[in-house]
Amino acid sequence: MRTKQFKSESKRLLDLMINSIYTHKEIFLREIISNASDALDKLYFKSLTDSSVGLNADDFVIRIELDKENRTIKVIDNGCGMTEEELDSNLGTIAKSGSLAFKNENEKAEDVDIIGQFGVGFYSAFMVSDKVTVETKAYGSDKAYKWESAGVDGYKIGECEKDSFGTTVTMHIKEDTEDDKYSEYLDQYRISELVKKYSDYIRHPICMDFTTSKPVEGEEGKYEDVTETRTLNSRIPIWKKNKNEITDEEYNNFYKEKYYDFDDPLKVIHTSVEGNATYKALLFIPKHAPFNYYTKDYEKGLQLYSKGVLITDKCADLLPDYFSFVKGLVDSEDLSLNISREMLQHDSQLKLIAKTVERKIKTELEKMLKDEREKYEEFFKNFGIQLKFGVYNMYGLHKDQLKDLLLFTSSAEKKQVTLKEYIERMPEDQQSIYYACGETVEKTEMLPQYDAVREKGYEILILTDYVDEFTVKTLMEYEGKKFVNICDEELDISSDDEKKALETANSENAGMFEEMKKAIGDGITGVRFTNKLTKHPVCLATEGAISLDMEKTLNSMPGADENKVKASVVLEINMNHKIADKLKELYADNNDKLASYSKLLYAEACLIAGKSIDDPIEHSTLVCDLMA
Ligand code: ADP
Repeated sequence: MRTKQFKSESKRLLDLMINSIYTHKEIFLREIISNASDALDKLYFKSLTDSSVGLNADDFVIRIELDKENRTIKVIDNGCGMTEEELDSNLGTIAKSGSLAFKNENEKAEDVDIIGQFGVGFYSAFMVSDKVTVETKAYGSDKAYKWESAGVDGYKIGECEKDSFGTTVTMHIKEDTEDDKYSEYLDQYRISELVKKYSDYIRHPICMDFTTSKPVEGEEGKYEDVTETRTLNSRIPIWKKNKNEITDEEYNNFYKEKYYDFDDPLKVIHTSVEGNATYKALLFIPKHAPFNYYTKDYEKGLQLYSKGVLITDKCADLLPDYFSFVKGLVDSEDLSLNISREMLQHDSQLKLIAKTVERKIKTELEKMLKDEREKYEEFFKNFGIQLKFGVYNMYGLHKDQLKDLLLFTSSAEKKQVTLKEYIERMPEDQQSIYYACGETVEKTEMLPQYDAVREKGYEILILTDYVDEFTVKTLMEYEGKKFVNICDEELDISSDDEKKALETANSENAGMFEEMKKAIGDGITGVRFTNKLTKHPVCLATEGAISLDMEKTLNSMPGADENKVKASVVLEINMNHKIADKLKELYADNNDKLASYSKLLYAEACLIAGKSIDDPIEHSTLVCDLMA
């Protein structure tokens, strides 16, 4: 046997396992069983196309052997096995780099997170064992190899004797401590329970010898130990069972174990469809976004099974991008087992399934919105942004599918509302759907235009996500009502008389505005009076398609430096404010002062709108001059 060192990453992961305070150490068994099952699947796949394998589906078995005296559990499979190289690379370097990267970023994260989020595979055996031995013979090979390790100090690898192909994992169970009673894993009832709990759906039989005390026939009162081999798992995949036979706990366990989440799912969708497309689907909406959800590392997709056999682990074509958060699987009778991944993309049956899956998810979300509002709001907090992107992407191709799933913060009670709710309680005279954008709700409420709209009794949607305004601009309207940014100069909430008065004031003072614009310079396209401010003296309004917030978002995107967009900005002065009279006065007899005041007012308006001042030094000088 040669002694080798673990790769440093594996060593850390291993160390984490050995010293784990994780309370669900019992999951080691499902990890080892799931590896065995994968190995059986691999050989089964081979047998489908290679008749020389000579095995039937029923020949593949996982065996568990308990030895109380020697404190060992063996998990034995007759799967594909491993060659020496495979054994060395698979168990010497565990490729869970994702989990370590996560651990590095979150130095203080409990190991609970990492174990729960990623599943840790083979090394989890070290949570309960002080020594692990793997004996394996690759299918078709005549040599067998043994791998052995007692922890971080390294592992030994060398040839060994083994009759048949497959793998035997022997775990030497740790001695009991005050906190952990490891001996429970040597108990046949406990093991049987764990298999039922975590591995019931495994397709292959998981067998174990069971010893029970039975009355001896013909001899009253006498008992003897009888050993019989039992299959511990029902072998029926959970998604093939009837809904009413499955408990919430079973769904939750299945989800957590399969999709590496430490939380129960927010919603389980279990459906069986017959007709043009025949399939069963088991879908989950997670409670929170996976840590890499909003990065490009995240891969969407559902597992795809054909008649209970896994075809592909992540079939992206089954989910539209806006529902990419959904986890789960589809099992269809209609797909061929041997279909290749490339062919899948063009499979019309798959397209049909994808369409109905999408419809189902949408209906379930709508139902949740209607019947379980709080839950839906929790969902939306995590994944709403994905739906908003969905509206905005592909030039709004999917906006009609998604618009009724959107929630926005409303000025009324600062609650989340749907567009439908907004429309339904609109006062009769309200023409449009009003919205305001800002970094936070509080900052948005401070916008000078805000009060005037609220005073009219109109509700305002407060948009604080950078994608929000792009979303409503893509929607354009909802039930015939246009979306209007309260900072848009077209915001029209005045009566005819008010409008007329404003028009007159603006044309009478056109000369003054021209002077002011000249003083301020390139930053603006015009100056004018407004009647839509209540307390504030000034505000910035924008003309055209690009608002100030969009300008900010677009210019902060990668590559925007060469191609900056610019909103067309108008400085609006409150025509009913004292400052309006002051300006008129200055225009009549002090043009220099009018110029400085114009710059000051523009700077003020910029600050209120959350925009920086073009020339802070000049601004400061002007303020000081005024003070002195
Ligand atoms: P994962 O199963 O997530 O890939 P593991 O740490 O559980 O990671 O296992 C590492 C690798 O070791 C597996 O991918 C597989 O190639 C190999 N392996 C583990 N157990 C077995 C087994 N019983 N038979 C064949 N190969 C195995």
